[in-house]
Amino acid sequence: MFGLRGHQRTIALMAGGIVVNLLSAGAHAVPLPDTKPPLSAEDYREALKKQPEFPGAAKYHFGHKKTPAKTKPLSFGSYARGCVAGAVSIPKDGENWQVMRLSRNRNWGHPVLIDFLKRLAADAPDLGWNGLLVGDLSQPRGGPMLTGHASHQIGLDADIWLRQMPNTRFSAKQRESESAISMLNGNLSKPGADRRVNPKRWTDAHAKLIRRAAQDDGVARIFVNPTIKKALCEFETGDRDWLRKVRPWWGHHYHFHVRMACPEGGAQCKNQAVPPAGDGCGKELTYWLSDAPWVPKKPKPGEKPKPRKPKPPLAVADLPNSCATVLRTE
Ligand SMILES: [Zn+2]
Repeated sequence: MFGLRGHQRTIALMAGGIVVNLLSAGAHAVPLPDTKPPLSAEDYREALKKQPEFPGAAKYHFGHKKTPAKTKPLSFGSYARGCVAGAVSIPKDGENWQVMRLSRNRNWGHPVLIDFLKRLAADAPDLGWNGLLVGDLSQPRGGPMLTGHASHQIGLDADIWLRQMPNTRFSAKQRESESAISMLNGNLSKPGADRRVNPKRWTDAHAKLIRRAAQDDGVARIFVNPTIKKALCEFETGDRDWLRKVRPWWGHHYHFHVRMACPEGGAQCKNQAVPPAGDGCGKELTYWLSDAPWVPKKPKPGEKPKPRKPKPPLAVADLPNSCATVLRTE
């Protein structure tokens, strides 16, 4: 479906003074936008070495857009295969939030995401949480990124640090260098590891903040480390409905990841299937907390480990057709 088979096309791309001819193929004949990426010749060669298909990769185009497409806000495609038009940025400072890692220029999202973050920040002090430290949202036009994150592509995902905002404002430099705080209590990949949150770091305020986020009508899912899901399952003594939205996943012990549902009227935005019924505190979580997902299996005698084939990066043609237009729109 998305394979690079079918017919071929030749793309000549000018970048940092180098002309690159790239043979690639696409089942959907969406012409690549004519962009001249602002990379130095040296950076370009480096990138090319790491990824021979680099010039055709969607992350290359989306990763260099500095501004949003100025249209009405629309998300196209799915969270890990799409883009966003008309994105807005969350201001780097609000009364109850500070945006971190500003140099990444990933503080963009569909207005429904930005509105949600403002709502949550406003509620934070009442929950015993001083304010939000906001991590990555999306790039100005969403899409795949040059580094990190498979999702965060359609302006509806946000990472929020599991660390409270301090009373003072971080300087621009501190926003690059300050560390997030892990909730883990040790190495999860040790056989028989104690897979619980660190009781010295985890507080009820953490739980209340995630609960408030999950109770927001616009939120579809929240991803947290399985150890955190466990802590939340133990924390809630009343209505457990919100726990359904909180899904255990790899990583996510320095931050939690909020995913908004597709906004109304966005016909080309693809929601994920709703999470399975129930609070998710049973069998599935028990599995996540067992050795099985974490402890690498020993190869049987004589068995050679299979080398993992890296997935080719998404091409612009792999995204919804509208994303090529989003790249071209000023
Ligand atoms: Zn995330």
